[in-house]
Amino acid sequence: MPTQVVMLGTGNPRPEPDRSGPATAVVVNDTPYLVDFGPGVVRRMTAAFNKGVVALGYGGVNIRTVFLTHLHSDHTVGYPDLIFTPWVMGRRDPLEVYGPKGIKAMTAHVLAAWEIDIDGRTGGLNQHNRTGCRVNAQEIAPGVVYRDGNVTVTAFPARHEEMVDSFSYRFDTQDRAIVISGDTAPTQALIDHSRGCDVLIHEAYSMMACRNSARPSPAFRRRHHTSSAELAEIANKVKPGTLVTYHRSRIGEELSSPERDVLLEEIARDYRGRVVAANDLDIF
Ligand SMILES: [Zn+2]
Ligand SMILES: [Zn+2]
Repeated sequence: MPTQVVMLGTGNPRPEPDRSGPATAVVVNDTPYLVDFGPGVVRRMTAAFNKGVVALGYGGVNIRTVFLTHLHSDHTVGYPDLIFTPWVMGRRDPLEVYGPKGIKAMTAHVLAAWEIDIDGRTGGLNQHNRTGCRVNAQEIAPGVVYRDGNVTVTAFPARHEEMVDSFSYRFDTQDRAIVISGDTAPTQALIDHSRGCDVLIHEAYSMMACRNSARPSPAFRRRHHTSSAELAEIANKVKPGTLVTYHRSRIGEELSSPERDVLLEEIARDYRGRVVAANDLDIF
């Protein structure tokens, strides 16, 4: 079975009902790996499971190995859900989480915050296992951060301004190379790590959204994120098999008709390759 990229959440901080917070699964030889855990991640994993991505398990119960791009809340407020819900559904193995500096403290705080629940479920009549609610969090540096028989995962620095420790990830499997940008302004590192990849999942904002909405300000967007024009330039250098946009903001695009996809139109002005705007539960 070829490696699959499952878009569990394509949204951003705005709580749109059809877009969960950022979360992407890479499924290799029936083993699922997860990047980011934005709000809604566990329910989207159930939706993907129901859609046929059975490797995830119901509610992501088969997820063991997780990578985090950065500690912004839109990428992490699904953390307690990811730790506890699949455990309650039967996960026995601890989660292995790789992420930026601060992930260890966040993990300890989450486990402490739900201490009463953990005690109740392990000590009372429930008798849940005591291992599946554990988390081994590791703080990573750029380079190869994980390797097993299915996949080699390389982290490289993103540029997300005050979020100094933030990463993009490259997954190399037997049949595919996949890059997930996380939140980032353009970086040379991303170009270097993405050349010739099969799938480039990249955040983007449209110039129209930037022009028409005051918040976030254009200056803020430039420092933290990647515009359609910048992404086209990146794609022309990288030449990915498929360019996939996610974590886009549509505020300010309302002026255009809903059937138009302004972001894709803007990218297509400068880039001739295959480009798709991802929706939740899309599979690439
Ligand atoms: Zn974000
Ligand atoms: Zn962010």
